[in-house]
Amino acid sequence: MKRPILIHPDPRLKKVCAPVEEITGDLRKLAGDMLETMYDAPGIGLAAPQVGVLSRLIVLDCVKGENETPRPLVMINPEVVASSDETSTYEEGCLSIPDQYADVTRPAEVEVRWTDPDGAEHREGFDGLWATCVQHEIDHLNGRLFIDYLGAMRRQMITRRMVKLKREKARA
Ligand SMILES: [Zn+2]
Repeated sequence: MKRPILIHPDPRLKKVCAPVEEITGDLRKLAGDMLETMYDAPGIGLAAPQVGVLSRLIVLDCVKGENETPRPLVMINPEVVASSDETSTYEEGCLSIPDQYADVTRPAEVEVRWTDPDGAEHREGFDGLWATCVQHEIDHLNGRLFIDYLGAMRRQMITRRMVKLKREKARA
């Protein structure tokens, strides 16, 4: 089941999310719904607060080619345990900030630890788009958006556009 995606500005997108204490059927259902919502958007990552759930849960799949096998990842309580000094810059966007893009510089490689929906622990290194995406999604769990990396003027301009977009949507 698809879930509505919150649009910035929204106080729920600025909250530090709580750790998942127990993997329940509801949590697995939420993860499935989030993947469906992400693929439908379409997007390459989605964090639980973006659908209004303030828990440390993200989903992502950065496989892009049509002939490549998808790799949906569900990460519960994900944590960056190491980052490279080397950085990379990608033009980022966000399903909660539609049609707005900006260059963001982040560590080029990160090692992430997380729990999967079966309760198994994982630890894996990511680079390229995967590294950017996983850091962007984990940021969401700490109430941080990609526009928080931009200058105040740019951030306010994007925020004003989103306020206008929400007003238009509410009227429609
Ligand atoms: Zn985002």
